[in-house]
Amino acid sequence: MSRESFTVVGGGPVGTLLAILLARRGYEVGLYEGRPDSRRTSLYEGRSINIALSDRGWTSLEKIGIGDDARERAIPMTHRAVHGVGGDVAALPYGREGDAIWSVSRSGINEHLLDVADAEPNIAMQFGHRLIDVDFETATTTFWVNNTGKVVVGADYAFGADGAHSKVRRLAHDLPRFSYSQTCMPQSYIELNIPANADGTHKLETNALHIWPRKDFMLIALPNADGTFTCTLFLNYSGDPSFESLQERPDVEAFFEANFPDAMDCLEEPVDAFLAKTPSPLFLVRVFPWSFNRKVGLIGDAAHAIVPFYGQGMNCGFEDCAELDALIAAHDHDWDRIFPAYENARKPNGDAIAELSRRNFVEMSELSGDRLFRLRKMIEAKFSRRHPDLWTPLYSMVTFSPDVPYSEALRVGDEQNRVMEKIMAMPGIEEDWDDEKLMERLFSLASETLGDRQ
Ligand SMILES: Cc1cc2nc3c(=O)[nH]c(=O)nc-3n(C[C@H](O)[C@H](O)[C@H](O)COP(=O)(O)OP(=O)(O)OC[C@H]3O[C@@H](n4cnc5c(N)ncnc54)[C@H](O)[C@@H]3O)c2cc1C
Repeated sequence: MSRESFTVVGGGPVGTLLAILLARRGYEVGLYEGRPDSRRTSLYEGRSINIALSDRGWTSLEKIGIGDDARERAIPMTHRAVHGVGGDVAALPYGREGDAIWSVSRSGINEHLLDVADAEPNIAMQFGHRLIDVDFETATTTFWVNNTGKVVVGADYAFGADGAHSKVRRLAHDLPRFSYSQTCMPQSYIELNIPANADGTHKLETNALHIWPRKDFMLIALPNADGTFTCTLFLNYSGDPSFESLQERPDVEAFFEANFPDAMDCLEEPVDAFLAKTPSPLFLVRVFPWSFNRKVGLIGDAAHAIVPFYGQGMNCGFEDCAELDALIAAHDHDWDRIFPAYENARKPNGDAIAELSRRNFVEMSELSGDRLFRLRKMIEAKFSRRHPDLWTPLYSMVTFSPDVPYSEALRVGDEQNRVMEKIMAMPGIEEDWDDEKLMERLFSLASETLGDRQ
């Protein structure tokens, strides 16, 4: 049975997943993407960023039946490989044995979802359609199409899934009682490449997310299936060192040699790339509401642009879709109830993952190279193995526990932090960390603070 109709603006990963879920609930869906179809053009020129997909993302992909297929194209990363300035490499596991985050090609996942959407009879996809206007009373949308001009599209409802720079969201600024904030991070980023060995193998350990933490800046590398790594350099936009201060070739060379000597052996022309590329800014966007007149909604990065330091932006967007889908069933297709239920459920989680992601820059760039930080992680891991009901480490709650909302992970993580600060302040902790008494003390503190509230 065909129900009402939806316009989904943005054929990125989140918009495409949303379109599939809506179509499978019986709606007629028009999916409008501003760019050409990447499957038929050289939009990515064979290169695309890779991103870390974790359990929240997988749960949503499994919902539409492509989890196993997508996993076959992904590379599990079981630990962080932390590269010191002297070339030493330490392995920091992400969770318990068997836990992994997965490196996937962003365009690969997007195109996989587009293929699934193609096969849905209720979805009509249009590429090269750039949204320019929305009527928030009627959900009528207007697109600009090259060589054609304006195209007006009517539907019962619309969703803006048009990413961090969402036009739908920017048009909503003119609506009454719309709250908006944008925070720019000091860091910007560029992408670099590590090519494959001649035999197609990886130059660095395959099943790891490589990090070169250098306090105010860091380099990370995620493996690709073709033997290459996509690297991202996060560095302040201004100050010293920064993208602004490093303008001359000898300075850039010296910067790379001093900070990433081992990576220099495998990076492809990093100095040329650094000098040629324009760094991209990193910013957080918070808005409320996420829906207007029970007609138009925001989803994915359009609703919550966050920074990439927890590797959760797309995972969170996929979770938005899965939760919306569950609400359609729970409220029997009554959109007067679904829109408010959706934004009330998701907004606290969007805010929580934004905060967790912001904080995680420090954890990645500063702490992962720090001896006491690693010790703390070891203590937490040991305690968690012993008392899994009392203590799930924050990273595992966010990454491997889709049943724990982000907002709950943030709250419990803050309480755990207070407990661990007391533990790490104990005299002789570096020598006694493996001692039974420490586990007993941690048990008593954790039971007192977290008890049965976790
Ligand atoms: C450096 C970096 C690393 C990241 N790493 C991770 C990670 O490890 N894990 C993770 O989960 N997330 C990560 N992310 C975040 C992730 O990329 C985003 O959260 C995800 O792409 C959001 O998907 P989306 O569909 O909401 O938006 P987008 O991917 O931005 O898609 C939006 C789509 O809308 C289209 N569009 C835009 N404007 C219009 C318009 N006016 N009309 C029509 N179409 C329009 C765009 O062309 C695009 O196709 C990272 C992001 C960055 C920048």
